[in-house]
Amino acid sequence: MKVLVINAGSSSLKYQLMDPATREVLAKGLCERIGIDGRLTHKIPAKDAKYEFEIPMPTHAEAIQAVLDALLSAEHGVIKSASEIDAVGHRVVHGGEKFASSVLIDEEVMAAIEECIPLAPLHNPANITGIKACQKVMPGVPMVAVFDTAFHQTMPSKSYIYALPYEYYEKDKVRRYGFHGTSHRYVSARAAAMLGKPIEELKIITCHLGNGSSIAAVDCGKSVDTTMGFTPLAGLPMGTRSGDLDAGIMEYLMNKYGWDMKEMMNVLNKKSGVLGISGVSSDFRDIETAAHEGNQQAALALEAFQYSVKKYIGAYAAAMGGVDAIVFTAGVGENDGNTRMGAASGLEYMGVKMDPEANNVRGKETVISAADSKVKVLLIPTDEELMIAMDTAAIVGK
Ligand code: AMP
Repeated sequence: MKVLVINAGSSSLKYQLMDPATREVLAKGLCERIGIDGRLTHKIPAKDAKYEFEIPMPTHAEAIQAVLDALLSAEHGVIKSASEIDAVGHRVVHGGEKFASSVLIDEEVMAAIEECIPLAPLHNPANITGIKACQKVMPGVPMVAVFDTAFHQTMPSKSYIYALPYEYYEKDKVRRYGFHGTSHRYVSARAAAMLGKPIEELKIITCHLGNGSSIAAVDCGKSVDTTMGFTPLAGLPMGTRSGDLDAGIMEYLMNKYGWDMKEMMNVLNKKSGVLGISGVSSDFRDIETAAHEGNQQAALALEAFQYSVKKYIGAYAAAMGGVDAIVFTAGVGENDGNTRMGAASGLEYMGVKMDPEANNVRGKETVISAADSKVKVLLIPTDEELMIAMDTAAIVGK
């Protein structure tokens, strides 16, 4: 089976054509500057080939058509006919309380995704545009929606409720939803496979540390808590996002500088996190270089990030009554041994003992704790596209 995985943003669209059974990626790429001019980067992993094209993309429909043309091209294509695409899997950011798992897209599902727009005003409209563009260009091909929020729908009410007047939950659906669910689900399943145990017997803390970061407590295969909240602004400090903070700070700064809410949110979303503390960059590589050169704020940004990860590991071990495995994934988690070490050291009292040599590794599935560590610490590269393709194949195959 060949599944086309689509991740549509407001002016960009990532795609991957893959066979979920063999996990082979036949082609992948990115459409950028949709609605401006249009640029396509198309890669064929088997040939280690990369192609770049300037193609007018006034809307997502032209972008999808350009992707299909690239996949079918005599020179750089990988399929002979569009009918070889058995199904399309779409990443959808917000499924609200409606979706606890992936679903086949029909009119009712589209309406429900549209209903979730107020919860994700930047992301869901782009995802909907991507789905509609595919339906236009590939009529009749079954399509599946895979939600970032779905995995966390198993959280108990004590984890997702905010201590606000209850009416704001009932009326306005203000609650913790959590994000990166596809990644947390994928790496927790891989962790169980690596440990050779059924996931139903494991307590796992998954740390997705990238430009956006979140941690989840996965008890017996179910998410029971996670650091992101009503929006992806909560929890850990991130590349440019503040993570958790005292809401009173907003009133203080807005009054002091005469900002409106838009200006305040711009600071919290775009100018905060490790960029804000360090004043250097949102990229951990730049921050580490600056810290090595003696920049104190850069060193503080790294320390504050690691401390926050460590605190949530402790919190989630307490929440689950123990922990069998801690997983590191995403850009920082997969590549940055210093951050992993900083976050997971000093936890020997709870059975976590890192192996510095094993931790000196990047981007491959491996155990990075010491052989006698009671809690296993694992590095697992995430693969959200594979998870989307596998869900799509499972649902369409039914
Ligand atoms: P992601 O959002 O998962 O794609 O992660 C992107 C982030 O990973 C970048 O902004 C960097 O901060 C971080 N990153 C990628 N490679 C490295 C590396 N070799 N060392 C440290 N951080 C890295």
